[in-house]
Amino acid sequence: CGIVGYIGTQDTKEILLKGLEKLEYRGYDSAGIAVMNESGVHVFKEKGRIADLREVVDNDVLASTGIGHTRWATHGVPSKVNAHPHQSTSGRFTLVHNGVIENYSQLKREHLQGVELVSETDTEVVVQIIEKFANEGQHVEEAMRRTLSILKGSYAIALLDNEDPETIYVGKNKSPLLVGVGKGDFNVVASDAMAMIQVTDQFVELMDKEMVIVKKEAVTIKKLNGEIVERAPYTAELDA
Ligand code: GLU
Repeated sequence: CGIVGYIGTQDTKEILLKGLEKLEYRGYDSAGIAVMNESGVHVFKEKGRIADLREVVDNDVLASTGIGHTRWATHGVPSKVNAHPHQSTSGRFTLVHNGVIENYSQLKREHLQGVELVSETDTEVVVQIIEKFANEGQHVEEAMRRTLSILKGSYAIALLDNEDPETIYVGKNKSPLLVGVGKGDFNVVASDAMAMIQVTDQFVELMDKEMVIVKKEAVTIKKLNGEIVERAPYTAELDA
């Protein structure tokens, strides 16, 4: 039901958790975060409140790239296993998703024969297909664009690739998603400006079927055909 992300120089855990707390009013049944550093991706998730998630987060893990999610279950019961983030079989890709993938069972049949899924969600299919395309030799960006172009339904997605700790990949169709622009050494992602207004008031709106390559010092918006889109940020007027 809500998405947050941070890439920069500070430890990301508290920024993500505070962001998710700002989205609590929207309602959710489970929550999770994934943070990425030189040692790889660390996923923490739990059924219940953000307060319950805080209990399972390992405070010793320091990382300055991360994504977070509050889930309102549509496919699969509310549970820890079905909570996001979801990971691909090898663990290389980690993804959060808001929305509904309408053609997920068809995609599973066509692209994931022999792949064992651990959750009941429509979301897991997406991260597994990205891995499949990457295993075929495509760069993560290309694998994500190709995957997004075959999805039917609604999505706001944020993806981590543990072979590339300097980037968060995001995509959007019919679900809200914004990129918040920081002061040159960080950028953020949020389904609602409210979640990140504490750290920036500069946001770039995304259009349907766009993806964004978010690095700590750069934000690049692309269409699903790879064409670069230029768009200036606007100032969000919300009380921090
Ligand atoms: N359809 C996904 C699920 O059930 C995402 C739900 C959401 O938007 O929170 O896990």
